[in-house]
Amino acid sequence: MKRSTKQRSVISKVLATAGRPLNPQEVLEAGQHELPGLGIATVYRTLNLLADEHLIKVVDVPGQGSRYYEMANLAQHDHFFCQACHRVFDIAAPSQAQPPPVPEAFTVETTETVYSGRCPNCKAGTA
Ligand SMILES: [Zn+2]
Repeated sequence: MKRSTKQRSVISKVLATAGRPLNPQEVLEAGQHELPGLGIATVYRTLNLLADEHLIKVVDVPGQGSRYYEMANLAQHDHFFCQACHRVFDIAAPSQAQPPPVPEAFTVETTETVYSGRCPNCKAGTA
């Protein structure tokens, strides 16, 4: 297997099994378990390639310099950003039965909500 192919498959697998969006640093740390020589530049390059091919997508967290990535084939869901540990979690999207709170003259094409606060881990730590 070519080296670049190996890196791709390791990084895809890291994202596929994480269960939540990861930033490049998190991808690097998880990927190094399987590929000890993995470097951050390779992680960035590979994430960009996978995103260009629409295999993964970017999760934008407002106010965060770091980007997060998740698999592109997930069902619609929202995200929760922990302001303490800077991890992003997947949460179920609210029922689509409710119309979005948008005036009728506007057409909604995508909705993605990012909640922020503290995850259970960090909440326990501050109590
Ligand atoms: Zn947290």
